[in-house]
Formats: sequence, C-alpha cells, structure tokens
Amino acid sequence: MSCIFCQIATGKIDSEIVYQDEQVVAFRDLNPQAPVHILIIPREHITNLDGASAANAALLGHCALVAAEIARAEGFAEGGYRLVTNVGPDGGQSVDHLHFHLLAGRRMHWPPG
Ligand code: AMP
Repeated sequence: MSCIFCQIATGKIDSEIVYQDEQVVAFRDLNPQAPVHILIIPREHITNLDGASAANAALLGHCALVAAEIARAEGFAEGGYRLVTNVGPDGGQSVDHLHFHLLAGRRMHWPPG
C-alpha cells in the first residue's frame, strides 16, 4: 500500500485526525494554506473526482456533509470557508487519493491561483 492517504486512513501514518467514521477520515493538512486547513478523504482509494462514478455518489455527498459538520463544530461555518478538490496536474493535485480541502480562518481570494 504505497498511497500515503490510504496509510493515514488505516493509521499506519500518524496525522492529526479531527473526524472519522466508517467511510471517511478528516485530518489537518501538514502544510496549511490557511489558519484552518483540513483534508477530508474517503477510506476507499479513489484517485480523484475523475476516478469516481455514480456508485460513489453517496460517499461524495457524505464527504461534503462531513466538511460542513466540521465547519460548524470548529466554529467557522458562520464566517465562511472554502471546500475544494484538485483534479490532475492542471488542478494542482499532488496526492493521488481523492481529498477535499476545507480551508477557513482568512478571507479567500477569487479567482484562485
Ligand atoms: P493536493 O495538492 O490537492 O493533492 O493536496 C495534497 C495535500 O496533502 C497538500 O495540501 C499537502 O500539504 C497534504 N499532505 C501531504 N502529505 C500529508 C500528510 N502526511 N499529512 C497531512 N497532509 C499531507
């Protein structure tokens, strides 16, 4: 198992986990791009959104709802946040395991870089 996020999901690599259940794990990004930077990943290895199918629809929805729940639990839902997933080289993806970045604690810019 060479995927670093699979190893985080199974506890083989340490991370600062903020939420987990049977389907997903959420942990703090090692190189935060905002005061709050949390990654939400499915336990199942899916490369990215392009590798997902209709069979993953509920899982994808669960990832988004977990992000919203974390935002409420950590107290930044009202101020707002950004949820983003990078896909492939042009999307800026560096880890080939589907993940959603939950970013908060500062004003986000648009368009993104
Ligand atoms: P992306 O560039 O969209 O693929 O995002 C990958 C993210 O994973 C980056 O923000 C990295 O800082 C983060 N990352 C890589 N390795 C780890 C790790 N072991 N623990 C926490 N975050 C990590």
